[in-house]
Amino acid sequence: MSALAEPRAPRAAQPAKDPVLEIKNLSVDYGYDEPTHVLRQVSLTLNRGEVLGLAGESGCGKSTLAYAATRLLPPPGLITGGQVLFTGRDGAKQDILALNDKDLRASRWQDMAIVFQGAMNSLNPVHRIGRQIADAITAHVPSMGKKDALDKAADLLDLVGINPDRLRDFPHQLSGGMRQRVMIAMALALDPQVLIMDEPTTALDVVMQRQIVEQIADLRERLGFSVIFITHDVSLLIEIADRIAIMYAGEIVEEAAAQDVYRRPRHPYADGLLHSFPPLRGPRRELGGIAGSPPDMAKLPTGCPFRPRCAFAFDACSAIQPELAPSAVPGDDPTRRVACHLHTPDLVTAAGFEPRPLPERLTTP
Ligand code: SF4
Repeated sequence: MSALAEPRAPRAAQPAKDPVLEIKNLSVDYGYDEPTHVLRQVSLTLNRGEVLGLAGESGCGKSTLAYAATRLLPPPGLITGGQVLFTGRDGAKQDILALNDKDLRASRWQDMAIVFQGAMNSLNPVHRIGRQIADAITAHVPSMGKKDALDKAADLLDLVGINPDRLRDFPHQLSGGMRQRVMIAMALALDPQVLIMDEPTTALDVVMQRQIVEQIADLRERLGFSVIFITHDVSLLIEIADRIAIMYAGEIVEEAAAQDVYRRPRHPYADGLLHSFPPLRGPRRELGGIAGSPPDMAKLPTGCPFRPRCAFAFDACSAIQPELAPSAVPGDDPTRRVACHLHTPDLVTAAGFEPRPLPERLTTP
């Protein structure tokens, strides 16, 4: 866990609302006879040129979302519903979940690439890194000759800040940070439009984490791809993301601009996450953490899954499951979404319960 730096200033030219990836009502079960619903109707939109951060405690479904969206979910995971719409540079839209094997293979790495959790340890220890990058390129572009692929591998190493002379090194001759950079280089080999990064810095020390995050931000600026950056460490997202989605128990519970999540969390769980890190600058704030543990996904409580840990729970929370709705705080960005009954007093009243006023803590202007 690291301290919270100030969020970086918004980029001068914010990405236009031009969706490159739209995840709609994506649901995943684990197991067949008595399935556990680990992802429940998750909807997210990634705009072109944007970094979307996905945060939440371990086991909340972040990685499952990444694997399901790229059709890499291993058994017993089963996608039970939803769409993953990818829009190509030509404007054509395709549902990744509906592609046949040939089209899916063509789409991988060229449209969307993924850097897996612990990817730096997946390099083959007995092959030189140049050959490994070149093999990955020729597997997807068989028409490219070996020499051209090695030249491309050298360019890619240079792109991620590694001297191309290291092309002939074996993985054990590189530091952990360099191996992770090699994996990022490999993922960028075919100029993908979307890069999904699943905990790409978890195994690295904080100095190296920062360098990798800065490098990803720099590459994004230069190459223009979009990123879904998955981590349990929300402090990292504050530095790199344009927008942040917070997940809990297989659902999105808050989605907003990174600056808004950092300064004005609206969901009690997002508020707890933000108060689990000491700020590096600005006024001191109380470290509260979050009481209790993440839920057993096979035995979720009725109503709101966060209820047993929530300091603001009231009667409606045990009876109705909250859905994402606009924040009820006056002046908030209208696109900001929160899944909490504190923000939907009309729905609570219509269901026959007494609404609870928003606590002051969750209404910071
Ligand atoms: Fe807490 Fe209720 Fe909001 Fe859930 S719906 S986060 S239990 S106040």
